Amino acid sequence: MMTNKLLPTSTAGSLPKPSWLAKPESLWSPWKLTGEELVLGKQDALRVALQEQQLAGIDIVTDGEQTRQHFVTTFIEHLDGVDFEERRTVKIRDRYDASVPRVVGPVKRRLPVFVEDAKFLRAQTDRRIKWALPGPMTMVDTLYDDYYKNRKALAFEFAGIINQEAKELEAAGVDIIQLDEPAFNVFFDEVKDWGIACMNRAIEGLRCETVVHVCYGYGIKANTDWKKTLGSEWRQYEEVFPQLQASDVDIISLECHNSLVPMELLGLVRGKKVMVGVIDVANDAIETPEEVANTLREALQYVDADKLYPSTNCGMAPLSRQVARGKMNALRAGTEIVRQELAA
Ligand SMILES: [Zn+2]
Repeated sequence: MMTNKLLPTSTAGSLPKPSWLAKPESLWSPWKLTGEELVLGKQDALRVALQEQQLAGIDIVTDGEQTRQHFVTTFIEHLDGVDFEERRTVKIRDRYDASVPRVVGPVKRRLPVFVEDAKFLRAQTDRRIKWALPGPMTMVDTLYDDYYKNRKALAFEFAGIINQEAKELEAAGVDIIQLDEPAFNVFFDEVKDWGIACMNRAIEGLRCETVVHVCYGYGIKANTDWKKTLGSEWRQYEEVFPQLQASDVDIISLECHNSLVPMELLGLVRGKKVMVGVIDVANDAIETPEEVANTLREALQYVDADKLYPSTNCGMAPLSRQVARGKMNALRAGTEIVRQELAA
C-alpha cells in the first residue's frame, strides 16, 4: 500500500519539448507536425516527459505541457468568440508588448480542450497527476477585448468555462487542478476587487485538490528585466497572500529559490498547502541537493511539514532537456535530505 509521503515533489508546469515536436530551448515555438502526426507526436512527447519525471523520482507528475504551445492561448484557441486572425498588440502584465487574439463575441467552450490528453496521461501512470489551466485574470490579460469591454465580466465568463473543463478533468482522473495566475502578482487592486472571487468560481464544486500558481514568470528577458526593477526585496506576495489565505484554493504555488521573496511572507498563507519553488528556472546552473534542502528548511519555519510541496519556481520549457533533467534530480535529492531529517 502506498503511504502518504511527506514533501511530495512536483514541477510547476512545462518541461522542454523534444526537437522533433517544436524548436527546443525557446518559448511558445510552433509545432513541427500537423494533423494526425501532431496528435501522435504530442502523445509520444507526453510519454517522454512523464518518463523523465518518473525516473527523476517526481511524486506528482504532469504532461509537461507537451499538449500545448502556449500556456494561455492554446486553451483560448478552443473557445468560440475569439478571433485569432485580426490580432491586436497589448501590454502583457504591464510589461511587454505582444500580438494577441481579439474577443469578438460571447466566449464559449463547445468541446473539452484537454480532457482526452488527461485521460492519456492517466492511463500511463499510477502516480498522482496534476493538470494546469490558465487562470481567468491571466486569460483576460492575454487578449484584446472588443466585445465585453470589461475585464471583470470577461474573467467571470472564463471562470465558468474553466470550471466546466476542470470538472471533466477531475472525472478523467486528474488529482490536482492548477490555475496559472501570474497576473495575481501584478494587478493587486483587481485581485482584491474580483480576482479571488473569480478564482473561487473557477474551482467551485471540485472535489480534487486545487492549486493557484503565482510566479514572477519564465526566465525571458522581459521578466528578468522587470525583476531588476523590483528592489532588494520582492514583497508582491504580501499584497495577495492574505486574500489567497482566505480563498477556497487548497495549495499556493510560488517562487522562492534565487528570488528576493522574503521567506517570512509564507507565514501569510498559514493553513494552506504551499508548493515552494526550490528550483530556479531562469538559469542553467543545476542546484545542489544541499541548496534545495536549505530552501526547504527555511520554508519549514513558516509552513507545516505536512503542507509543504517542493516544486520548481515556474515552468522549464525554455531549458535544455539535460538541464531540466538535472534540476528534477536535484529537486528529488534535496527533498530526500529534508525528509530524512524530519523522520529522525
Ligand atoms: Zn510560472
